[in-house]
Parts: sequence; C-alpha cells; structure tokens
Amino acid sequence: MTRHLDQLPGLHEDVVESMPAGGSGTGPAVSGTREPRLPVNLDAGDQASQIDKDVRYIVGLVTSERGLAGPQRADVASRCAWLAEHVEWLAASDYAAEVRAVLAELVSGALRVISPIRKPIALGPCIQTVEDLACEGTLQANITNVDGRHPARIWCTHCGFEANTSHWFRFGEDWREHMRGVATTAVG
Ligand SMILES: [Zn+2]
Repeated sequence: MTRHLDQLPGLHEDVVESMPAGGSGTGPAVSGTREPRLPVNLDAGDQASQIDKDVRYIVGLVTSERGLAGPQRADVASRCAWLAEHVEWLAASDYAAEVRAVLAELVSGALRVISPIRKPIALGPCIQTVEDLACEGTLQANITNVDGRHPARIWCTHCGFEANTSHWFRFGEDWREHMRGVATTAVG
C-alpha cells in the first residue's frame, strides 16, 4: 500500500500529461466525412479521473470510519500523502484487501495509458535478497530523462532497491555475477 500510495501522485501527473494526443491544441475536428480524431488520449482521461475518484473514495472510508477530517488539500498528492499516514489502520481494517486491490489496479492502469516515453521498461526479476530470500520484485528502468522529472534510473517494484545512472556500472557487475550464479546453479 505504502509503495503504491507513494507512486500514485507521480503516475497521476504522468497520466494527466499524457492526455493531449499530438498536442495540436486545435480542438476536435467536427466536420468532414472521416472519423474525426480527438486531440486527446481518452484512455488517459478516463484513468486520471479513475485515480481521482478511487483515491477520494479510500479517503472517505478512513474519514467516515475513524471520524477524521481528512486532508486539507483536495489534490491526489495530498490525499495519497494523507492516506500514507493511515496505512497501518487500513492494513488492519476490513477494507485492507479491497484497498490493496484498488491501488494496485490504479498503478497498473496508469502505466498502461501513459506515453511510452514515460513508461518504465521491465528488465527482469530483481537480484536482491530480502531476509535471505530472493526478492520477488521486478526490476524496472527509466532510460530517458524526461523534462528532469523522470531521471534515468533502475528500481525494484518490491524491495525498494534503486540505482541512478552513477550506480549503473556497479549494478551491471552485480547483475552479471548474479546471472553467472544462476546459470551455474541451473547446470549443477
Ligand atoms: Zn527487489
């Protein structure tokens, strides 16, 4: 939950920024015989309002159940930050499974609609160990630095591992070593 609440504001911003398609800004073509193409990414529009709606719904669960006032500001980032403070309560509540599923769905839905350039690339299974067990996460990478807000980096979806470009050489070494280990184990 915490991880998804942490990711959602940035993803929501990405979704909103992915809404104009083509960026002509001339408005929808209403005349002509061909099917007009709206200069907006409708999927992104749907997803942006879905995030807004669902996050507001979860905040509503917490405020009504706990009799709290809720976040002062009504934007997605403020609501997610506010929810992050109530994660322990949510995780122990009857809503835990539902909230977890909704947040996961919002994150994957957002990743589906955002512009390819903003989309992280899945590299494969994480090579870190968590409490002596292999991490179950997937390594993702952003390789393009989009408008300074999306620095090139590699991170794990599960254990919190993160490497920026200055760590990539070292990470590459570790990764090769890990893969040699995997190959040896498979053969032996
Ligand atoms: Zn990991």
